[in-house]
Amino acid sequence: MRTGMLAAAITTGLVLSGCSASEPSPSQSAAQPAAAEPTATAAQRPSATPTPTPTPTPEPLPAEQWDIDTGSSITALVNKRRPLQPQDYLPEVVPVTVSADAGEEFVRPEADAALVELDAAMRAELGEGVHVFSSYRSFQRQTTLYNGYVAQHGQARADTTSARPGHSEHQTGLAVDVVGTGGACRLDACFGDTAAGRWIAEHAWEHGWVVRYPRGEDAVTGYAWEPWHLRYVGADVTAAMQEEGATTLEAFFGTGAAPDYGG
Ligand SMILES: [Zn+2]
Repeated sequence: MRTGMLAAAITTGLVLSGCSASEPSPSQSAAQPAAAEPTATAAQRPSATPTPTPTPTPEPLPAEQWDIDTGSSITALVNKRRPLQPQDYLPEVVPVTVSADAGEEFVRPEADAALVELDAAMRAELGEGVHVFSSYRSFQRQTTLYNGYVAQHGQARADTTSARPGHSEHQTGLAVDVVGTGGACRLDACFGDTAAGRWIAEHAWEHGWVVRYPRGEDAVTGYAWEPWHLRYVGADVTAAMQEEGATTLEAFFGTGAAPDYGG
């Protein structure tokens, strides 16, 4: 994949969209997930089959069967080596139902429902819910943010904290940056050590969410640890990841690391 051209687009930047990690753990093999992601696969199944009702079939599919290429797929894999397809993909989003910054947070309906679920479980077990402070960001918004970072800090540094336009998971409408409703350590790595952050790290997968940029995985994800950045991929995928011990989508889908934008 090439990066040169994206440079032209380098413009804005703020969005923390990557989040990062720190020690590379070389051994995740991404080979074979076992569960099926009904949402993503339904569309791809040949409709020639005489199946009457569109019942989502729970049969397991190999990782290769998940659609990680189409921007609208719940399992679309977006990182520094894999831009959204199309790059200006525009999802249909709804206002976030759980606690969120005033009137500015939007996600795809599937992600909203999963957030409500996660919030309920978190409140029941922890007495604290989840608060969203960043969510869907359009290609244009990302461009503005990224360009702003570049202007302020230079491209090299901007690339460590902000995704280039077309490369941000926030553009999928399936990513959110969160903090506990108590507000401690908002947008700070110390969130990972709060009760809310620890609960999320341990339980988010049960509701289809992945802490996308885990600690120690910068070399794989391209971003330092961001305990606050969650990506919705569906419970089938997160359950399979859990079973395999895969901590990043790159490892699970077997696409290889995405440490940078490539040459
Ligand atoms: Zn984020």
